[in-house]
Amino acid sequence: MKRVFGSFNQTAVYHARNLLEHAGIEVFVRNAMLSSAMGELPPAECQAELWVLDDRDAERASEILEARPSGSAWSCACGEALGAQFTQCWRCGRYRSA
Ligand SMILES: [Zn+2]
Repeated sequence: MKRVFGSFNQTAVYHARNLLEHAGIEVFVRNAMLSSAMGELPPAECQAELWVLDDRDAERASEILEARPSGSAWSCACGEALGAQFTQCWRCGRYRSA
């Protein structure tokens, strides 16, 4: 197992998980439950992490995550405001238009 992504923004972690699962890579999120303990544990312990089950997927996973467009924040047609790192609306599932 290999860690391929980590963030204090759990939405970003779960979105990354969706991207990788969509690509057929088996992943799991670790430490996500600890965020509620923030303040009692060192911050690094509260970060949600994304791990691939198969080490051989790690390189491809990194490529997928790094390939995400980095432009500016955008607004979905449903009205949801999304950060630049997201290619898909988590509210309605629409993809960002080019
Ligand atoms: Zn939307």
